[in-house]
Amino acid sequence: MSDPRRLPPPYRIKVVEPIPFLSAEERARALDDAGHNPFNLRADQITVDLLSDSGTGATSAAQEAAAAVGDESYAGARSWFRFRDEAADLTGYPHLLPVHQGRAGERILFTTLLKPGQICISNTHFDTTHANVELAGAEARDLPCPEALDLDSDFPFKGDIDLAGLERTLAGPDGPRVGLVLMTITNNGLGAQPVSMANLEAVASLCRRFGVPFFLDGARFAENAWLIRSREPGYADWTPRQIATRVFGLADGCVISLKKDGLSAIGGLIGLRDDDLFARCEANLIATEGFSTYGGLAGHDLERLAQGLREVVEPAYLAARAASTARLARMINEAGVDTVQPAGIHALYLNAGRLLPHLSPAEFPGHSLGCALYLEGGIRCAELGSLYLGTIDEQYRLVTPAPFELVRLAIPRRVYTEEHFAYVADTLGAIAKEPERVRGYRIVSTPPLLRHFKVRLAPLGAGG
Ligand SMILES: *Cc1c(COP(=O)(O)O)cnc(C)c1O
Repeated sequence: MSDPRRLPPPYRIKVVEPIPFLSAEERARALDDAGHNPFNLRADQITVDLLSDSGTGATSAAQEAAAAVGDESYAGARSWFRFRDEAADLTGYPHLLPVHQGRAGERILFTTLLKPGQICISNTHFDTTHANVELAGAEARDLPCPEALDLDSDFPFKGDIDLAGLERTLAGPDGPRVGLVLMTITNNGLGAQPVSMANLEAVASLCRRFGVPFFLDGARFAENAWLIRSREPGYADWTPRQIATRVFGLADGCVISLKKDGLSAIGGLIGLRDDDLFARCEANLIATEGFSTYGGLAGHDLERLAQGLREVVEPAYLAARAASTARLARMINEAGVDTVQPAGIHALYLNAGRLLPHLSPAEFPGHSLGCALYLEGGIRCAELGSLYLGTIDEQYRLVTPAPFELVRLAIPRRVYTEEHFAYVADTLGAIAKEPERVRGYRIVSTPPLLRHFKVRLAPLGAGG
């Protein structure tokens, strides 16, 4: 296309929700009360919330219209069949089970499929996925491709698995213990980077050769399809839906958190080919989530999801979302802050370690930048650095830092406009003008598990 006009998003706004603007003093007090942990802030203290893209998107008029006719029958509801037909047509899996969110699907699949002592290999396990593999008594092992470790490289598919490493593991002494290969698309744990069709095909063929089940963690299946279409030769003429269907077709099944590309606040899905595995997962589902035609969801949720699965693969929607994230990345880079390259779709990752060289990893530069974004502009985001991923001793001192000090800006779907993003970039620009003003933090108290949710901190210096 040679038309130089920038196309607007393929929707206009019908329902709005006010957002608060607190004064600088109010923000400082709110952060202090929250123990300097943005997870403890109240939503009504936040101006732009980029903490997560999970369940935070806007629904469409068509989704709400469908929800109004949701069928709440206990078993065999109309809404289930609408959702099932939509998901079956998209994924091609003969067996589908609804769950209330992604991690419920992980728990049911892993406790049914994996035996204690087995290994699950992934390009990168998402944090709840990692936890559910271990709760099933198995070991979660990540094999990201080497290109993923260079934050500045433009390699188009940094979400790929390390194929040589995978083959070495399957053929080596640990091979017989590998119970599952799970590909996360896109790779949320590693910079929102996509996985190429070529990599997925190679994984499928290795798994067939070694007789190991191959599953997808497909939370962002549509965004991954869009990035294959834009970046991988041979797919420019495919629709995102065709690409997604082809990807699902390579695997033996999937678990999906539909809080992302289901364009809904809640929901998840297990897709399976194997009859026996399906029967065992279904029994587990009925015991723990609900009957197999609702799986912990209301009929109106299933309706929103069925419609969401259609809307999320629309090329105009995906094009606008990808362009909007890429524009935010450009604005942030021009404001003097580096982001993990190339920009993905659902989130941007700020290189806080590079912006704040005066802070050592033990002073948590990613967390410091996240707090500065709140103090300067009421913007909430998540640290992905040593506070989240480092090891910390009993005196709360950092023992092993994370490989990078990053901050994730997650982009809710269809929620914020370009003006909100300009505001985020301006706020970052103000911080980047005098980065040495950003103070480090120390931990005051922390729970032993899932530290980032409940940790409390205090700023260093000036009496800290
Ligand atoms: C969100 C997410 C999950 C977990 O899903 P929930 O709906 O939050 O339980 C699993 N894997 C990936 C890649 C995710 O992004």
